[in-house]
Amino acid sequence: MTRDPFWATKEDESRRLLRHSARELLKREIAPLVSEYERDGRMIDREVLRRIAPLGALGGLLPPPYGANLPYSTYFVLIEELGRIWGSLRTVAQTTASVANIIAELGTDEQRRRYLPPLVAGDYIACFAWTEPEAGSDTLAIMARAEADGESLVLTGTKTLVTNAGSADVAVIAVRFDTAIRLIVVSTAETPIPVRPIAKMGLDSSDLGELVLDGVRVPRTALLADRATDPSLLVFGRVGIAFAALGSAEAAFEQTLRWVRQRRQFGRPLASFQLVQAELAAMKLAVDAMRFFAERAAWRMDRGEPAILEASLAKLHNTEAALDVVARAMQLAGGYGYTRDLGLERRYRDLRHLTIGEGTSDIHRLIIGRELTGVDAIASEGDR
Ligand SMILES: Cc1cc2nc3c(=O)[nH]c(=O)nc-3n(C[C@H](O)[C@H](O)[C@H](O)COP(=O)(O)OP(=O)(O)OC[C@H]3O[C@@H](n4cnc5c(N)ncnc54)[C@H](O)[C@@H]3O)c2cc1C
Repeated sequence: MTRDPFWATKEDESRRLLRHSARELLKREIAPLVSEYERDGRMIDREVLRRIAPLGALGGLLPPPYGANLPYSTYFVLIEELGRIWGSLRTVAQTTASVANIIAELGTDEQRRRYLPPLVAGDYIACFAWTEPEAGSDTLAIMARAEADGESLVLTGTKTLVTNAGSADVAVIAVRFDTAIRLIVVSTAETPIPVRPIAKMGLDSSDLGELVLDGVRVPRTALLADRATDPSLLVFGRVGIAFAALGSAEAAFEQTLRWVRQRRQFGRPLASFQLVQAELAAMKLAVDAMRFFAERAAWRMDRGEPAILEASLAKLHNTEAALDVVARAMQLAGGYGYTRDLGLERRYRDLRHLTIGEGTSDIHRLIIGRELTGVDAIASEGDR
């Protein structure tokens, strides 16, 4: 970003400063942890989250007194920078931040006072549990239920593929209550929920699991406002992922540029071969297009305009393009690209889930088609 004068003119002083401080802090405090945490499968803990909290990575979007009311386009600079450096931390932080946003938007004053300060400070990790074994792309097919029992709600059902399931202090869970889909906010210290861990391909320092809601009892006051299916709640996650993919792909591209200039074969730098330059051109095209898609979606969000179409375009394009860029980066690094030494194979494993989570690529193709034509080709009304 900083290398390109065009985009630099699009970046105001507050974004420039935030990017600079984020990059410095992440380099100094976070980069030294990455390899060891990932190698040992050590989960991101509160200590790590507390280090990035002062940047506003967990609550920067929230209004005072909890946050700095950052514009989306400024906040997403942090997600992009996290995407550059550590996929696991990006996913833990973005999930926690999105739960904080939901509580700020749909919570009562009491819920805000209780949950937001520790979430914003990095003292709490959060999870958002919507997906179920029979309700993935078909988001409105969820079956988990809340039944009223006096002043309590009794939850039943299973939530699966939940990021941070095993480490969360706060869980926001989607359930059916009466006829509506409602969100419930639960303190896991007060209401322990059994978790079945799920092993996965990447993001080795973030946990994924299944929440078993087998008669879990929560107070009725755990309900959030009745706007669980508001499309605007979906946009944040999608555009955040578009920025995360951009950060990771651009870092891989810059690493590749350095590599092909230094690495010599046949007595010449790799950079001097035409086929290598063609690869670099393809990568640069992709990264620049990624920035356009991400920035445009954030711009719409900042203006308070509907951004469903722009969010899906950014999410679809950037996640697919990032995988392609990182695959090319691995190829240009030869055998070293496949080793754990360069970090490219980790980027590839970490990026792979981004074309699936927050709506698969095909679901986003269908959302784009729906937004363009007004005709919904997704089988149900669910669009995530
Ligand atoms: C690492 C990771 C983290 C996640 N974190 C969370 C989380 O924190 N919280 C949460 O609630 N969920 C989370 N998820 C779940 C994620 O949102 C779902 O995996 C995703 O929405 C897809 O649902 P599914 O896995 O059931 O796939 P399915 O819906 O079964 O889809 C399978 C395939 O069928 C295709 N398909 C489905 N319907 C259609 C259609 N109408 N037309 C064309 N093709 C279709 C899909 O595109 C896909 O290719 C996570 C997933 C992963 C992998």
